Amino acid sequence: MKSMKRVFLFALGCLPCTFLLAQEAPLQMKMDFEEYDPPSTLVVEEHRLTHAKFPFIDIHNHQGNMNTADLSDLVKEMDRLNMKVMNNLSGYGFRGGSDHLEKSLENIKKQFPDRFILFSNIDFSGIDDPQWTGGTVAQIERDVKQGAKGLKIYKSLGMFSKDKKGNRIHIDDPRIDPVWEKCGALGIPVLIHAADPKPFWQPIDKNNERWLELKLHPGRRHDTDPVRWETLIEEQHAMFRKHPKTKFINAHLGWYGNDLRKLGQLMDELPNMYTEIGAVIAELGRQPRAAKAFLTKYQDRVLFGKDSWVPEEYETYFRVLETEDEYFPYHKRYHAFWRMYGIGLPDDILKKIYYKNALTILPGMEKSLFPK
Ligand SMILES: [Zn+2]
Repeated sequence: MKSMKRVFLFALGCLPCTFLLAQEAPLQMKMDFEEYDPPSTLVVEEHRLTHAKFPFIDIHNHQGNMNTADLSDLVKEMDRLNMKVMNNLSGYGFRGGSDHLEKSLENIKKQFPDRFILFSNIDFSGIDDPQWTGGTVAQIERDVKQGAKGLKIYKSLGMFSKDKKGNRIHIDDPRIDPVWEKCGALGIPVLIHAADPKPFWQPIDKNNERWLELKLHPGRRHDTDPVRWETLIEEQHAMFRKHPKTKFINAHLGWYGNDLRKLGQLMDELPNMYTEIGAVIAELGRQPRAAKAFLTKYQDRVLFGKDSWVPEEYETYFRVLETEDEYFPYHKRYHAFWRMYGIGLPDDILKKIYYKNALTILPGMEKSLFPK
């Protein structure tokens, strides 16, 4: 009896021992994946960055009403972030109006000529028309003459755009070849978003890293699509290969941010392929050592991009790129339920990603606005 008491008292003082002694049944509790999100108890140094270390060019942004908008509030927000130049990829507006680009260029010129650039957009719906290729090439020529600095291709090419017979238009459709060639000849880059993250093609279950996103946005599902993810990606690479004199910015790390070895092989194979980090910083932030090696090796071909215009979210980008902070949260749980680690890039590489690479591949940029 006496010794039992001693064991009991000892066990109270030693938590692991209580587990050994008592045959405990676990609590009958279930917790939702969406609900379980405990605040971290880790105490480490933190560097909250609301302002980038160097002025930067956001190569991947979308603004819908640049043809008429008062841009001063937007510029104030850009200044807070240290964003020197915003590239609005939606040059034709969200509805694709033909005079949208022209009006937007005028509006920018009147208000903040150094702070915004625009990319042109093209429409694939008339691709069956024998005049389509020539007309589209002429449109690009005209847009660039007016001031467009590149061409943006939306993911609808390959996924949703169909010809008159209802056939899917392949990304490497030869009818588009002269358009890519023209971009190369004019010295403008083509920023292309093809397909979507690979998990969107996988079953929505416990093995899917984007389960929450697909639950919240079921319209993003492609798990029953007849076209495989690999097919779209292969078409895109075939198109890059066919036009070595044209510079392509493969958006969102080409959806290989989770496989930097594969992305590196592509960078080696396709010297005309550049990439940007919009919406995929969480991939780099979960592998800071591999990301640092990748960004060091390909420092001349990676550009800064963000995609959705939510100014508060830039902090995660700055923090991953600039600091060596550990285990800090990402801003959108459905992109990443994991935490971030800073890569701590040196200044010379940061400058390339933030602005130097964009200044090199965009035509006619005013370099004096940026540090050497
Ligand atoms: Zn985008």
